Amino acid sequence: MKIALVGYGRMGKAVERVALEAGHEVTARIDLPDAGSAPLTAEGLNGAEVAVEFTAPTAAADNLEALAAAGVDAVCGTTGWYEELDRVRKAVESAATGLIYAPNFSLGVHAFFRLARAAARLAERLEDWDVHLLEAHHRHKADHPSGTARALAQVLLEEITRKRVWELGPGSGPVDPAILQVTAVRAGSIPGTHSVGLEGPDDRIELRHEARDRGGFARGALAAAEWIRGRKGVFTLDDMLADRWS
Ligand code: NAD
Repeated sequence: MKIALVGYGRMGKAVERVALEAGHEVTARIDLPDAGSAPLTAEGLNGAEVAVEFTAPTAAADNLEALAAAGVDAVCGTTGWYEELDRVRKAVESAATGLIYAPNFSLGVHAFFRLARAAARLAERLEDWDVHLLEAHHRHKADHPSGTARALAQVLLEEITRKRVWELGPGSGPVDPAILQVTAVRAGSIPGTHSVGLEGPDDRIELRHEARDRGGFARGALAAAEWIRGRKGVFTLDDMLADRWS
């Protein structure tokens, strides 16, 4: 596959590494300040079949419109631009190209979500068990709890009826058992970690996902590039997984 990298930062470089390992060709690496000189044209993309876009929230929608106009399918991992989805969708549909986007391309994380949902369904039946969530990341992470922890909490709440809401805690004082407790740790260079704890009266089960590095996101984005090539329309990673994992 011929791939253009739009955004050649940490993720762009991680995608390049896994793409070259898998025998694909990188036809263009586009970053600032090239961005001002309209490199997102068929010529600038240098024969790419798919572009992988990891830039910044303020740049992604314009880049995706330009990629559609250039007739190139796209994978977008940039987060925080989704308010502009409508105009991007119009551009992709009128160009009859393909776009797949996701805030998290890690297939390991998505597998973990499925396992967590299955665990939550069992926990619903184990009425004297408690369930909680713990996440830990390096100290430079901008938010807490992580977006992944919020989405995971939502999955647990959908399945466990005795948990009404999630709360970042424990704060002080006793914790209401109807609250799904989410604990966040930020320290040093801890790799992104999420765990679901199922606490029984006599034993406990822990489901844990730990990211070693950005490779998981990059490999997922590469799988998405293979999937989107030649498809028409706008898709999310859930569409791809419904196709691949169902
Ligand atoms: P980064 O800062 O290391 O790299 C971004 C690069 O994009 C920089 O080199 C920057 O110069 C370049 N850039 C900015 N505007 C540009 C433009 N208009 N045209 C071309 N290049 C431009 O950041 P990163 O860690 O690579 O992350 C990039 C984005 O991806 C962020 O939004 C981040 O939240 C997101 N992200 C998503 C996933 C996922 O799985 N979807 C995983 C990790 C990061």
